[in-house]
Amino acid sequence: MRAITSRGNRTTEARLRSMLVRAGVRGWRIRPSGISGTPDFVFREARVVVFVDGCFWHGCPRCGHIPRTNAKYWTAKIARNQRRDRRTRRALRANGYRVVAIWECALKRAPGRCLARIRIAASPGS
Ligand SMILES: [Zn+2]
Repeated sequence: MRAITSRGNRTTEARLRSMLVRAGVRGWRIRPSGISGTPDFVFREARVVVFVDGCFWHGCPRCGHIPRTNAKYWTAKIARNQRRDRRTRRALRANGYRVVAIWECALKRAPGRCLARIRIAASPGS
């Protein structure tokens, strides 16, 4: 039940943050103000936003699960989160941002691939 009480994905975010620093990737900020949808990382100049999605809260198809207790509540709650995700990401794209969404589990499983996706999206001229 720990996944339910810990709302944020600070650990995952911190992991990605240190990966970016180690890889020498620059030009990003963490949740800067003045951008809708509060993306976890924003490359302003490259106009790229990165979301690190917690598998539980965002309903990862691979490992997101609905708790048995209050299943109805959680199903509705997670569906609501997913709708909001789609809406905010669509709005960001409409504003010329490229959206990179990374699952918490993907970051654990294949950190190199996640990093590569960000680098490619944020590299000039891509
Ligand atoms: Zn997952």
